Amino acid sequence: MRSGSVNALGRDLRRALAAALDRAAADPDVTAVLLLGQPRAFSAGADITEFNRAESLGAKSHRAESHGADVDSAGAGQPGHADGPDLRALVAQVEDFPKPVIAGITGVALGGGLELAMAAHARIAAPGARLGLPEITLGLIPGAGGTVRLPRLVGPGRALAMILTGKDVTAAEALRDGLIDAVAEDPGASGASGAVTEAIARVNALPARRTRDRGDRIAEAAAAPGTVERIAGAGLSKAKDPFAARAAVDAVAAGIEHSFDHGLAVEREKFQERLASAESAAQRHLFAAERAARRPAGLDPEASRPVRRAGVVGAGTMGGGIAMALASAGIPVTVVEAERLALDRGLAQVDKNLAVSVSRGSRSEEDAAALRSLITGSLDYADFADADLVIEAAYEDLGVKQGIFATLDAVVRPECILASNTSYLSIDVIAEGTRLPSRVLGLHFFSPANVMPLVEVVRGAATDAAALATGVATARRIGKTPVVVGVCHGFVGNRMLEVRSAQAEQLLLEGALPGQVDRVLKDFGFRMGPFEMGDMAGLDIGWRNRKAEGTTAPVSDALCEAGRFGQKTGAGYYAYDGREGREDPEVERLIVEVSHTQGVTRRDLSDAEILERLLFPMINEGARILAEGIAERAGDIDVIWVKGYNWPAYRGGPLWYAGHVGHGYVAERLRNYAEQTGDATLLPAGFLAGA
Ligand code: NAD
Repeated sequence: MRSGSVNALGRDLRRALAAALDRAAADPDVTAVLLLGQPRAFSAGADITEFNRAESLGAKSHRAESHGADVDSAGAGQPGHADGPDLRALVAQVEDFPKPVIAGITGVALGGGLELAMAAHARIAAPGARLGLPEITLGLIPGAGGTVRLPRLVGPGRALAMILTGKDVTAAEALRDGLIDAVAEDPGASGASGAVTEAIARVNALPARRTRDRGDRIAEAAAAPGTVERIAGAGLSKAKDPFAARAAVDAVAAGIEHSFDHGLAVEREKFQERLASAESAAQRHLFAAERAARRPAGLDPEASRPVRRAGVVGAGTMGGGIAMALASAGIPVTVVEAERLALDRGLAQVDKNLAVSVSRGSRSEEDAAALRSLITGSLDYADFADADLVIEAAYEDLGVKQGIFATLDAVVRPECILASNTSYLSIDVIAEGTRLPSRVLGLHFFSPANVMPLVEVVRGAATDAAALATGVATARRIGKTPVVVGVCHGFVGNRMLEVRSAQAEQLLLEGALPGQVDRVLKDFGFRMGPFEMGDMAGLDIGWRNRKAEGTTAPVSDALCEAGRFGQKTGAGYYAYDGREGREDPEVERLIVEVSHTQGVTRRDLSDAEILERLLFPMINEGARILAEGIAERAGDIDVIWVKGYNWPAYRGGPLWYAGHVGHGYVAERLRNYAEQTGDATLLPAGFLAGA
């Protein structure tokens, strides 16, 4: 990505900066150094480099310009080369520099970029700058002093918040927290701009200018060992990568409770350990997989049509959320319902969701009002006349959907793209009754649609380039991660989920209990187990569907027959007081009885067997999905499971995980379970068949 101009701190740039600093140090006419990047990036730390300048202030100006093009996966941590300093050495050179060094930050200062800026003696940022240490999102920790310098600038609480979430902060927040010293419209204004002159004077007046020597913000925590651990508490348990989070907290604590140098040493050791870990490899795989998923075969971004107005059919759980997602990107939306009551209820739910986000502070009142003003309710399909895209989110019933698409086909303009949010149904069959099936596709959102990032973009047999490109572009515009998939029952995500659910039910029959199964998946890293999820979603829908299809799931059916529909009835696989579930002896009794009726002799199942029985069959289904071409790449399936089903990112997604434990091992275990259960669908399929 040479066009990116993100100023990655690659070898060439580091070497050029070090040389420029050497010259500036030796030149008596240079009184101070101003480090500047590109307008869009001071430095994004871990990407491809284009330009950077180390500009010296003073009567004479030193300028180093450099192109670099190496990917520096961590933005830090390469061993010192004969041909240039590693980032840690460069950072130390800046911090120890005998003359004031000011970082002028425009655009982003991320990862190694921010670590370099934190070593400068003062920081000035443009109002639009964003600063952060996102290493944890790749399963890493900052590797060039970030964990020891950031607490010295902003205090341990703010530092841990930034390091453990990986989220960046605005210039205003950075100024408030002490991460920067001033905000200036153009920190790089040539000559001595006001802010830079002031910063130099301030630095010259400091008793100790090095960040490493600043103790005021950490004094309290340094005096009371254990403070860092306590402050880290909630952030540590919420972190997306618990291993990297643990490592980061250890490094921060070492740098505060012992010494700066000890902190640096611990950071170094932990950084190397994380860099070599499977968890980081998993997240780096996902980073690449997400990028690859943006370029599905046959996608022609040029074919995308502008979406000025959108429509949504149905104001239920999904319709309301989809309308909010569209409106939050500034797209006016008309929501058409079948009944007045359902419309009022749906719009009231939108109001409630917005009120909650305002009360939580995640949205301003003005933002919420602006978003709400873009959503209009209607009972008349004719109000879709000027829509560019209509997304249907009515009942999951083929007849209902076909009827809706026939109506839409008659009222919208020929250029209008038509999408269905169906979870399982065939886009091809839904499109059949329309005059222009080429403009029909699936846009499968996940619940809650205003929050969950994934959209499966379902390409039907007739879907044309414009429909596909518009679907993908709209999903991205509203901040989602689109993954293009083909038509089959349940597409990629739900098709694999069904396999896992069937196995979970089977495990109960053979001897496990819901609590054990859920715990095994949570230990693996999922936020919820299948039975907790079932209780939350409600068990009755599946029960009714099974009755209609003439299929069974003996345990779930028995629970429903006993009136246990999940959280909403206060009882399901668990008993509930509010949302808090607890194990219920009645459920155990019921399960044991069902096993008995089915003629199954119950046995103890190990956690290891439970995990394999849940994950390997769904991985096998993923192999079938790949073989059928429903998903283009294994990485697409991984992105779908991480973004749509909360598969832990540090376990890379189901197919990455299969590679991690070994395809041969997965295949062997599948053969074993197929024989043990007599279920031939468990026999290795697709690429696993030959493994
Ligand atoms: P829901 O029952 O909450 O909402 C459906 C709404 O559609 C109802 O308000 C109903 O009045 C309205 N409706 C029905 N027929 C209509 C018509 N002809 N014209 C206008 N409105 C009509 O259902 P939901 O959970 O929002 O699901 C909607 C769709 O999204 C389904 O296809 C479902 O499979 C899919 N989906 C659901 C989820 C989920 O978790 N709930 C997730 C992904 C996809």
